[in-house]
Amino acid sequence: MSAFEYAPAPESRSIVNLQSSYGLFIDGEFVDGDDRRKTISPATEEVLAEVTWAGTADVDRAVKAARRAYTKVWGPMPGAERAKYLFRIARIIAERSRELAVLESLNNGKPIKESRDVDVPLASAHFFYYAGWADKLPYAGFGADPRPLGVAGQVIPWNFPLLMLAWKIAPALAAGNTVVLKPAETTPLTALLFAEICQQADLPPGVVNIVTGAGETGAAIVNHPDVDKVAFTGSTEVGRIIARAVAGTSKKVTLELGGKAANIVFEDAAIDQAVEGIVNGIFFNQGHVCCAGSRLLVQESVADQLLESLKRRMATLRVGDPLDKNTDIGAINSAEQLSRIKTLADVGEGEGADRWSPPCQLPDRGFWFAPTIFTGVSQAHRIAREEIFGPVLSVLTFRTPAEAVEKANNTPYGLSAGIWTEKGSRILAIADQLRAGVVWANTFNKFDPTSPFGGYKESGYGREGGRHGLEAYLAQ
Ligand code: NAD
Ligand code: MN
Repeated sequence: MSAFEYAPAPESRSIVNLQSSYGLFIDGEFVDGDDRRKTISPATEEVLAEVTWAGTADVDRAVKAARRAYTKVWGPMPGAERAKYLFRIARIIAERSRELAVLESLNNGKPIKESRDVDVPLASAHFFYYAGWADKLPYAGFGADPRPLGVAGQVIPWNFPLLMLAWKIAPALAAGNTVVLKPAETTPLTALLFAEICQQADLPPGVVNIVTGAGETGAAIVNHPDVDKVAFTGSTEVGRIIARAVAGTSKKVTLELGGKAANIVFEDAAIDQAVEGIVNGIFFNQGHVCCAGSRLLVQESVADQLLESLKRRMATLRVGDPLDKNTDIGAINSAEQLSRIKTLADVGEGEGADRWSPPCQLPDRGFWFAPTIFTGVSQAHRIAREEIFGPVLSVLTFRTPAEAVEKANNTPYGLSAGIWTEKGSRILAIADQLRAGVVWANTFNKFDPTSPFGGYKESGYGREGGRHGLEAYLAQ
């Protein structure tokens, strides 16, 4: 079965007002730096703008601005006043949502239906949610007078650029901290638009500073002696470097790292519904999701039936222009990430697993990878153990619930998991045994600002979201 033919339905990009070049956002203003680099659209390789890569001296200026703002303005400000700024930012994000969504899809490659319906609304919701906490910190369960930590240095990845910014900045500001945030090198543009939103909201200068750049800029933030708190989302490899860098200092750290989540389908599950959840679990955002359901564990008795349905469903997925409203799978974020995905997929074949993709035409320019599943995967295969961070699913089978739990937990990670069954009692019993921070039941990849998110083991430590998310930004 093939997909319906749809006429192209591209979202207009005229709403986005790109400048040819961007400086760093320090102390409430855009300032020029020396080192300028191009940022592109991964769907077309077209240059969108130039951005500045901050050096150590730039980072130092940003940290000094954040310290000043913390001591003089933001720290002493009553929570009810801070809340007004956060509510204002939340409203502006909602008002400018189309602009943010188009820009996110341009710079990241994700389908517009996701940036429009998931990333941007959730970013706004995060600011609304934490705005509500700003004047209620004494009731959050962290003592009668919880204090902010000071200056937070925040480094985020490219998979959810604006949303990860919101996860980092909203709780930090609500708790009374000021921030220096670095977006990922391939996706700086929505963070720079957010800087404009801070200006529009009249946020006092220095409360939010955005410095663009790559790993060296991130390291300069992490290692700056006047940073009180480090918050990082990204690879386990860099997470380790950061943990080592702050060991023995008084800096507080939260790390949100990788995952290799099990999505477990029992034989009594509603199969069609599970297929939708599997597709959402691994093909949402091209599989560039730390909590992606990248290991499908399916009970042997229904494996053939489920795989047949899954393949039929995958044949209807539309891969292509991220700005087209009908696109399901957009571009891979960078040439580097594409080559990592290709390498691991080749390793899967080399190790003897069976590779399958639906027939699909990929655009000539840009970075693309067809939705792919591997069957005949064993637990020893690298594609069952390593995070691929792409639209690639490894399928394993099990016979008993105990075997499902054992296989699910057989991973160095522990960020998320999914359970598909019609039995409520089984959901509770299995969830209880899974070593994963988030367990979804009969759904997958559901996010809400009120719900804490974070991992076990090599998936990192600390929680973001909900009341728990405040704890990471308060002294106790
Ligand atoms: P990365 O960890 O290198 O990058 C994440 C962020 O950290 C970026 O902003 C980057 O500039 C910064 N950074 C890099 N080196 C740093 C350092 N030494 N000190 C401080 N900051 C530093 O991730 P990547 O190289 O883009 O991706 C590699 C793999 O990591 C992916 O294939 C995927 O498996 C995983 N990943 C996971 C997540 C997640 O959400 N958990 C996000 C991105 C990547
Ligand atoms: Mn890296």
